[in-house]
Amino acid sequence: MTIEKAKGGRDAMICRACGNEERASEGYPCADCGTFLCLICTFRGVTFCTACSAKHAVPPSTL
Ligand SMILES: [Zn+2]
Ligand SMILES: [Zn+2]
Repeated sequence: MTIEKAKGGRDAMICRACGNEERASEGYPCADCGTFLCLICTFRGVTFCTACSAKHAVPPSTL
């Protein structure tokens, strides 16, 4: 487990969708990999982190 030292908060984590630093207790895990997503992203309907949303996106060339 990687612990990133946050500036102010004692349990702050970096949101993997928007990059904001938010408190871990106020966020939700990515629906796929379980990495941290902040509450703001969750409110906006973001359920996957950047990596997972790219993974789930339809490839531009499927033919
Ligand atoms: Zn976010
Ligand atoms: Zn993810």
